[in-house]
Amino acid sequence: MPAGTAARELLRRLHNVMAARISTQAKLDQVAALIAGALESEVASIYLLRDGMLELFATRGLKQQAVHVTRLALGQGLVGTIAESRAPLNLAEASAHPRFAYRPETGEERFHSFAGVPIIRRERSVGVLAVQHVQPRDYAEEEIEALQTVAMVLAELIAAAGLVDAQDVAPKGPRDTSPVRIGGLKLVDGMARGVAVYHEPRIVITNTVAKDTDEERARLKAAFARLREDIDQMVSRAEFAGPGDHDDILETYKMFALDEGWARRIHDGIDGGLTAEAAIEAVAQAQKIKLGSATDPYLRERLHDLEDLSNRLIRVVSGQSGTAAKRGLTEPSILIARNLGPAELLEYDRAHLKGVALEEGSLTSHVTILARAMGVPVLGRAKDLRGQVVEGDPLLLDAGAGALFVRPPQAVIDSFEAQTALNARKQAEFDQLKDLPAVTRDGMRIQLMMNAGLRADLPALDITNADGIGLFRTEFQFLISATLPRKGQQVALYRDVLRAAGDRPVIFRTVDIGGDKAVPYVEARGEREENPAMGWRAIRLALSRSVLLAAQANALLEAAAGRTLNLMFPMVSEPWEYEAARAIVEERRRKLLAAGVPQAAEVRYGAMLEVPALAMVLDELLPRLDFLSIGTNDLTQFLLAADRGHPKLADRYDWLARSLLRFVQMVIRQARAADIPVSVCGEMGGRPLESLALLALGVDRLSITPAAIGPVKAMVRSTELAPLRAKMEGWLDTPGIDIRRELTALAAEQGIRLD
Ligand code: PEP
Ligand code: MG
Repeated sequence: MPAGTAARELLRRLHNVMAARISTQAKLDQVAALIAGALESEVASIYLLRDGMLELFATRGLKQQAVHVTRLALGQGLVGTIAESRAPLNLAEASAHPRFAYRPETGEERFHSFAGVPIIRRERSVGVLAVQHVQPRDYAEEEIEALQTVAMVLAELIAAAGLVDAQDVAPKGPRDTSPVRIGGLKLVDGMARGVAVYHEPRIVITNTVAKDTDEERARLKAAFARLREDIDQMVSRAEFAGPGDHDDILETYKMFALDEGWARRIHDGIDGGLTAEAAIEAVAQAQKIKLGSATDPYLRERLHDLEDLSNRLIRVVSGQSGTAAKRGLTEPSILIARNLGPAELLEYDRAHLKGVALEEGSLTSHVTILARAMGVPVLGRAKDLRGQVVEGDPLLLDAGAGALFVRPPQAVIDSFEAQTALNARKQAEFDQLKDLPAVTRDGMRIQLMMNAGLRADLPALDITNADGIGLFRTEFQFLISATLPRKGQQVALYRDVLRAAGDRPVIFRTVDIGGDKAVPYVEARGEREENPAMGWRAIRLALSRSVLLAAQANALLEAAAGRTLNLMFPMVSEPWEYEAARAIVEERRRKLLAAGVPQAAEVRYGAMLEVPALAMVLDELLPRLDFLSIGTNDLTQFLLAADRGHPKLADRYDWLARSLLRFVQMVIRQARAADIPVSVCGEMGGRPLESLALLALGVDRLSITPAAIGPVKAMVRSTELAPLRAKMEGWLDTPGIDIRRELTALAAEQGIRLD
């Protein structure tokens, strides 16, 4: 397209044509003529989607008798190919293309070169804009970009004029006819059916032609300033402050946000007569063409980053920021996002949130743990998720099978329904085990407690008949609150927990804030840690903000009035930390006693073993403990030096690594020798195969996610422990052995249930 004033002039004329009081056909004819003139092309044609076919609606240069006669299916001919792939074609010799379909009625045999772009509305092709020349020639990149800009304006004008059937724009269209299966990693097991909802929705641009270019420039400038602020804020938020991938993303965000080239190209678009929104979109689309065919995963990732950022900038400029949670879900939905923070997940209405699919995510990230507690299935590491799913697409999520079915055909829906029914039967079997004890075939009673953190988890106590709560993550209350929860709120929650548990024990863990569980009011300084998981978190933070710990201790002591309070501290790496934290609680006990406030009759103190160093001085700590709990989520990442959230380290973060199993065995033996009760409260214990390994190491107390109690109990009741233990001893001494394979084989031999 001609630059500057000429481009503005074309857009203005396009707009005028569409606004004129003439027939629709006359408008399209004039538009085709305008485009042919502006692009100096011999042919300019507009195809629009009608009744599922791409119909030639207007042309300048082809025979007029072809109008409304030439129709192509999606995928048919060059035009159908463009619409189906939503990507432009640029061909010096059209007939050499394998999909070329000759239409005699058009008289197009004279024309050799061909360039076409899709007309996209709500991320779906609603038509194609094509130009042709007699002389074979390649179109320059700028010419294709210009065509795209015109197509974008056309999309808006076509929709406004009602030229495309509503149902052709609605959740239906080229890509939706083709079902897609996206593979990923099971983060939270389960199946769900719902429509795709983007956590950060895309904005449909309804105004592409600027009325006042200066005003658009000012809007863009203000939006850039806001965007940079947002990014700075994001950097200081801990869920984005994890090491690894997030660093890359933030770096790229910053790179684009500060990139003068990006800003300049958007400004060029505005100079050409576009609104700020349309100019941002035009640049993003042009970039997509450049990088879209790249197979290099790094480049594809960067493309996503730019899309993300463009989308964000459009939302800022149009004043429509905010996530889908703010709008609210109105039907059964599956949330689509690159990644989510735990607090963001909690903003969604549980009644309609059926599942989550993420491009990133890891098994032990807190958003996963939270979703597991909420019973929401999650698929992670779903490659190119956002490239393949469109808002509103029907979806089937089968996290267990590691799959998301997009626009599934009936056969897949049928098999999904059958599978759901089967799962319900399995669940019914687990429910039947509810009142039976978790005892192995050779008579060993295993304590199965559950992990919890929210009020909403409490009904699971009775539903699963758990032996108690082995880990109550108190920080979840802090996470879902915009300000520090007041003492009254804390007391009320802890009381409800104790009331729900009745005679069953509850182990409260003092706040484990930090890492990926940041709260704005505590991390007020906005510092970004290089390695937050190994940083200022948990007991470290509690000791340096002792007022926070003291206030929480008060709330816990009061809530447990007259009963035993089981309290444990997270991330202890040295005995002195435990002593210092315990002293703070003891001080509160004395104060409450002096003030005559009713409080816990007894406090039993425990420590979490999640920092490997503690094991080396455990002999010094054990005599001071009432119980010990092994947190395998963190322990595994520290012992194996493999970030629990890092996608590329998933196979290094291995719960059945010989080193980790030996380590756990050593800790169990030490605690047993000192006669201190010891349990495992990480996610590992909730997976039947991994908890079988723990049993083999001598673990007899597990605290696991409620949904795992049924399957783990079924495993326990079908296991004969003695031979398993003997086998495990041998495996731990065999270099290079694949314990996962051995254990699976043994389970099959013994008929141990691992489902
Ligand atoms: C653990 O690290 O194993 C654990 C239970 O604590 P969290 O997952 O909350 O860090
Ligand atoms: Mg932990």
